[in-house]
Amino acid sequence: MKRPFVSKEQLVDIAERYPTPFHLYDEAGIRANAEAVLDAFSWNPGFREYFAVKANPNPTIVRILAEHGCGCDCSSLTELMIARRLGLTGERIMFSSNDTPAEDFRLARELGAIVNFDDLSHIPFFEEVAGPVPPVVSCRFNPGGLFRLANGIMDNPGDSKYGMTEAQLFEAFRALRDRGAREFGLHAFLASNTHGNDYYPALARILFGLATRLSRECGVHVGFVNLSGGVGIPYRPDEAPCDIRAIAEGVRRAFEEVLVPAGMGDVAVFAEMGRFMTGPFGCLVTRVIHEKRIHKDYLGVDASAVDLIRPAMYGAYHHITVMGQAGGPDKSRRPAARTYDVTGCLCENNDKFAVDRELPEVELGDLLVIHDTGAHGYSMGYNYNGRLRSAEVLLREDGSTELIRRAEKPSDYFATLDVNPDWNR
Ligand SMILES: *Cc1c(COP(=O)(O)O)cnc(C)c1O
Repeated sequence: MKRPFVSKEQLVDIAERYPTPFHLYDEAGIRANAEAVLDAFSWNPGFREYFAVKANPNPTIVRILAEHGCGCDCSSLTELMIARRLGLTGERIMFSSNDTPAEDFRLARELGAIVNFDDLSHIPFFEEVAGPVPPVVSCRFNPGGLFRLANGIMDNPGDSKYGMTEAQLFEAFRALRDRGAREFGLHAFLASNTHGNDYYPALARILFGLATRLSRECGVHVGFVNLSGGVGIPYRPDEAPCDIRAIAEGVRRAFEEVLVPAGMGDVAVFAEMGRFMTGPFGCLVTRVIHEKRIHKDYLGVDASAVDLIRPAMYGAYHHITVMGQAGGPDKSRRPAARTYDVTGCLCENNDKFAVDRELPEVELGDLLVIHDTGAHGYSMGYNYNGRLRSAEVLLREDGSTELIRRAEKPSDYFATLDVNPDWNR
């Protein structure tokens, strides 16, 4: 059973102040989880989580994580600008980009970010457009083939556009060394939204082994190994959450078996988790505005795929809890009574938050909570059909709320038409 982080009474109250739809974030949950991550990896003195800003680029959320010592993992110019505005610079920024535009590299260099090179060819490109390579650098590895763990094939790096081959990594480390880099890191992201506790430890073992060879053969100091993102969350009610303690313990075992004997016990472990840091601590709050019965039963809600595209894009499962409405019963614990497709208003038949989902009997005006939208939710939003993006609201630790991003207005949608003065009258 998946429970929302707000009660029905709280939610009814919040929805009276902020019109639906909106994403609601749980500050207490984000903070407690961040502390659990730090605590789990405290065996590694240099450990740092660089929050993957793309997962939730709301500056208030990024700042909350920064207050716990997290850095920013940025991959674009505007994500770098968010880090800058929050006062994060230098080694608090990991710049893990790909197919990188020149201006992005320029700002990364200006901010003193750690640059995580995605390709060998990016080294001369960086020098040409941004200047000398930074003193602290990193390279992204792609082993190719299929990535397997004990429970099967996890992902297909052989088909992924990211990173360098092993041979290229050696070449890149030598090239960066010859250009004056003095501290090196190694990075890979081989599987997304992983379940169980084996992914980081298996990845760590691969990267630690590679790091010992790179260090020895290229004569460089490897200062960190970056396990990137990919730690999953239980979107489905029957899934078990990842145990960050067990994960960190598995990484520690690999560290002690591979790095320590190689005299590399000073290596810092880095992570760039996005989903695991904020995913469960956000939900999309939406109201049922239509019920339609044709060949199937449809619930039309006031949110759409522009607020949360994962179901439309990947067929991703997001759990839905029916909360009810002011004056009505709390429906959040009622058993399923009927099967619905829960739809948004886009003129695209994949604009469905759920297909054939069993839910309690729903009435018009009921509030629904769509779970686990704290990462890759708002941030993947778009404007198809001229639909405007929702607001974001923070549920503070003391139970108060704060609007941390307003909903878009038509004037936002039309703002880029200012090239034509007729539109701005
Ligand atoms: C997307 C991404 C992450 C975060 O991934 P999650 O699955 O959200 O943890 C981290 N690093 C890089 C380079 C990414 O592209």
